Amino acid sequence: MALDSLGRDIRYLRISLTDRCNMRCVYCMPEEMRFALRDELLTADEILAVARAARDLGFDKIRLTGGEPTVRPELVDIVRGISSLGFRAISMTTNGLRLDELARPLKEAGLERVNVSVDTLDADKFHRITRWGKLETVLAGIRAAEKVGLTPIKINAVVVRDYNDDDVADLAALTLEHPWQVRFIEMMPFGQVAQFAQEGVVSQQEVIARIEAKLGLLEPVGDGRLDGEARLFRLRGAQAAVGFISTVTNPFCATCSRVRLTADGKLRLCLLRDDEGDLRSLLRNGASFEALRERMRELIFRKPWGHGLPDNVIPLQRVMSQIGG
Ligand code: SAM
Repeated sequence: MALDSLGRDIRYLRISLTDRCNMRCVYCMPEEMRFALRDELLTADEILAVARAARDLGFDKIRLTGGEPTVRPELVDIVRGISSLGFRAISMTTNGLRLDELARPLKEAGLERVNVSVDTLDADKFHRITRWGKLETVLAGIRAAEKVGLTPIKINAVVVRDYNDDDVADLAALTLEHPWQVRFIEMMPFGQVAQFAQEGVVSQQEVIARIEAKLGLLEPVGDGRLDGEARLFRLRGAQAAVGFISTVTNPFCATCSRVRLTADGKLRLCLLRDDEGDLRSLLRNGASFEALRERMRELIFRKPWGHGLPDNVIPLQRVMSQIGG
């Protein structure tokens, strides 16, 4: 078991496979990025070594992310390797552009489900937000994931003032037609995109008001308690819930059970703080399995209480794609 100094049981590891992405979402990374060099990234074997140590520490849930995890060439092999370690849940967050071709091999390798990022159902706006993305390709990816059983599917939407704040009701309406949970994520400030994110953030309260004005009441699910990081609501007659991940206005630090492995081998203790510990040099200096596991235990113990956004403490070292959202 890996406890932090506040007694939180840390058992959820989000693994970033790469800092690269085949989109350039306006709130995530600037169009011109410097990416890590190949030998700065953990190899597939190094990633599996960290996953094995996490399993030994009692972690039971893995999410693969990035950057865009589907641009990592060894993705399917990494999923197969992680799947053999016996985690309770293995999922992936993706922009969906490559899901059409990868859904089946990923399912066969042991992936259980996917979250797909879709910020709007308007193809032109989708292109404006993602800069390089094509909505139709992503929707085909979601259909492919559904067909092979990478379910239940969750759709993640970051709401950005003057980009897609008008589109939240259309996205929520997906839950009336499909068994897809649609989750609205409040935009968070990071590094070079911090100012953009702070100026464009749209609160949970406003998103709820916009949805209810078009689609009727959103009833709280489970008395409004958190389900993971989301608070869930449901439209009358819907097949799935509408969720809100409101890290800025309604944080869930008290129940946080996660840490992140960045693609360049740092264990990041809180998404929104720059505290990290290096695992790559340990791995490359021939550390034993026990040494790696104990280093991870030590770092986890130092997990900070929560983020500092209310005090204007903004993570400046990395943007979301370099952390693993
Ligand atoms: N490329 C994959 C994707 O698009 O889902 C996985 C990585 S992406 C960094 C993970 C999630 O973080 C996406 O849902 C994305 O929209 C979200 N994200 C990126 N930058 C963000 C920000 N500044 N605030 C809130 N969410 C953000």
